[in-house]
Amino acid sequence: MSDKCPEYVERLYAYIDGELTAEQYEEIKAHLLDCPPCLTEYERDMLLKKLIKRACACEQAPEQLRSSILTRITYERTEVRYEA
Ligand SMILES: [Zn+2]
Repeated sequence: MSDKCPEYVERLYAYIDGELTAEQYEEIKAHLLDCPPCLTEYERDMLLKKLIKRACACEQAPEQLRSSILTRITYERTEVRYEA
C-alpha cells in the first residue's frame, strides 16, 4: 500500500462505472497492475457489482442489499484466509 492507495480505492467505483476520463482511467489501470491490495479491492467491487446486478434487475440496488452482499464477501474472504 502506498500513500496514494486510498485515493485510488475511492475512485474504483467511478472506474468500474466508466465515469472517469481516459487519462484517469489509464492512471488507475496502471496502479492496479502495480498494486495487489488495490487490485483485490477492485476485484471485490467488480464481484459486488455483478452480484447486485444478478439479484436486482433495477439500476440502483437498495443500500441494505449492497451492504449485506459486501458483508458476505468479506466473511467468505476471511474464511478462506483462516483455512489457508
Ligand atoms: Zn494501491
